[in-house]
Amino acid sequence: MIPTLPLNDGRNIPQLGYGTFLVPPQDTEAQVSQALEAGYRHIDTAAIYRNEEGVGRAIAHSGIARDELWITTKLWNDRRGPDAVRAALDESLTKLGLDYVDLYLIHWPAPKNGPIASTWETFGELRSQGLTHSIGVSNFDERYLPDIIATGLIPAVDQIELHPQFQQKPTKELAKTHHIELQAWGPLGQGKVDYQAGLIGEIAQRHQASWAQVTLAWHIAKGHIVFPKSSSPQRMRENLASTNVVLTSEDIAAIDALDLGLAGRVSADPADLN
Ligand code: NAD
Repeated sequence: MIPTLPLNDGRNIPQLGYGTFLVPPQDTEAQVSQALEAGYRHIDTAAIYRNEEGVGRAIAHSGIARDELWITTKLWNDRRGPDAVRAALDESLTKLGLDYVDLYLIHWPAPKNGPIASTWETFGELRSQGLTHSIGVSNFDERYLPDIIATGLIPAVDQIELHPQFQQKPTKELAKTHHIELQAWGPLGQGKVDYQAGLIGEIAQRHQASWAQVTLAWHIAKGHIVFPKSSSPQRMRENLASTNVVLTSEDIAAIDALDLGLAGRVSADPADLN
């Protein structure tokens, strides 16, 4: 059973899903179909991944009722302002073959691409029109999230790089104050951190689980929403089964202590991605 988390807009999101970053367009339909078969019901994609069509075909062929699925996509950084935003969501919906997405995100703050206010305001309108049921932001850390909050339109989620050595505590504090849930991208460190080698590997041995399962169980215990990516059906199932791993409060505290602050980041700094 995949737990759900209540959002500040009254909706419930499946806390564990399937991520599609770097899933090649030609493989997407097959991989997302395998994920849906394994039991995933929450799929995370983005316009820039160029695989929305494959996600859409997998959904169409799955026979799963639309209201049992949670589909997230994202606005790319070169689309800013009301007209461009409306056109971008329209293109994504066409590619996905859907009438609405569950969650639409501004992918990056891209601070050099101009002010964000009218773009965010348009997100509110798209939600009112039912074209997306929830709205949020991504990669808005404590430097960028305050501008969004100041508009009075509070995002349901903020999707940020987040894993044991990069816990983003200042952003987490701010999000908590405004009841914004955190979605952890790169929840396994994108394969760039050897979490198997140290403490997480030891905890995994004790629980007869894998390091990936322990890392995902930690995220879930911390209230993060996760959607690890894997092209292997076996790992898809392994990641799904992380919901059966019950960590002790000592395990959780020990993983909490792995935070390296900003030194733990393994991917792009939002200030540099425009
Ligand atoms: P991730 O932390 O999910 O790591 C993926 C890597 O972990 C892959 O190399 C995979 O082979 C490996 N892996 C997966 N399951 C494993 C297992 N059980 N055992 C061992 N290795 C395993 O990183 P990610 O894919 O970058 O992040 C997850 C999702 O987050 C993406 O697919 C995407 O949907 C989203 N994302 C969003 C942003 C953003 O800017 N908003 C950026 C990156 C990713």
